[in-house]
Amino acid sequence: MPDIVDLHTHSTASDGTMAPSELIAHAAERGLSAIALTDHDTVAGLDEAAAAGREHGVEVIRGIELSVVHTKGELHILGLWLPEDASAITDTLDELVRYRHNRNHIIIEKLNEAGVAITYDEVCAVAGEGSVGRPHIAQVLMEKGAASSVQDAFNRYLGPQGCAYAPKKILTPEAAIRLLSGVGATVILAHPGIYGLRGIPLREQVETFRPFGLDGIECHYSEHSAGLTGEYLSICREMDLAVSGGSDFHGTVKPNIRLGTGKGNLAIPYSVVDALKERRRMKGQPVY
Ligand code: AMP
Ligand code: FE
Ligand code: FE
Ligand code: ZN
Repeated sequence: MPDIVDLHTHSTASDGTMAPSELIAHAAERGLSAIALTDHDTVAGLDEAAAAGREHGVEVIRGIELSVVHTKGELHILGLWLPEDASAITDTLDELVRYRHNRNHIIIEKLNEAGVAITYDEVCAVAGEGSVGRPHIAQVLMEKGAASSVQDAFNRYLGPQGCAYAPKKILTPEAAIRLLSGVGATVILAHPGIYGLRGIPLREQVETFRPFGLDGIECHYSEHSAGLTGEYLSICREMDLAVSGGSDFHGTVKPNIRLGTGKGNLAIPYSVVDALKERRRMKGQPVY
């Protein structure tokens, strides 16, 4: 495999199925030269990942993925190159994880009302220590035979059209972008191709977010077609935005997405990391 990287991945610290050290070992096995761990709302896996990176000779970029409210929908914002000491943001992150727990309890109640026997303890047993999300609930639903796949669980129960849907209280885009850029992270709008911008043109959206500290767009992504990727790359060129890319690897909960190669459509070269680092240097932000 050429010198490829993956800047969007999840571990057991949130809703992935591999422990941070396992994920890094897997990255080494697959010949990746750099990887960003970007768990939902938590930095809990980063120290373990960084240590494993040193052991396996894989460059580990400390990252995170935050959900934000966007008109009636949700957008995801990635922070890359978080500082080793992330204590400036942990209060906010702890609050997000607490909100998640409240929301998850509501989902469980709705599932029970819909006749599905499931407890939050069962979900927490699957989730382990990390931040608990709907994919964990989906897993329990599958184990119980109440859903045939993660997708089926989202369609029937957990997604916006599902009977047990509950929104989670999340940050505004401005709050999330300022939070991450305030600690010197490179701030990236995640997978613009899968979360609809509700008719707002991407260029316009980016102009709105830029003053808050948005640096760029995740152009390369498992669910982006070649055409869409090309479109995003030209927007980045035209608007002088940073280009990022990753698979959104989650392990066995999303079995069709492989680390580094996504759905077979990804081969993100190391030059993407180099270009991101160069931008950081220009802004006087540290690279490691
Ligand atoms: P939560 O953080 O609990 O709101 O769950 C969001 C996570 O659920 C996302 O990061 C995805 O991993 C997953 N997810 C969201 N929608 C779907 C879907 N339609 N099918 C499968 N997984 C999904
Ligand atoms: Fe996820
Ligand atoms: Fe996401
Ligand atoms: Zn993700």
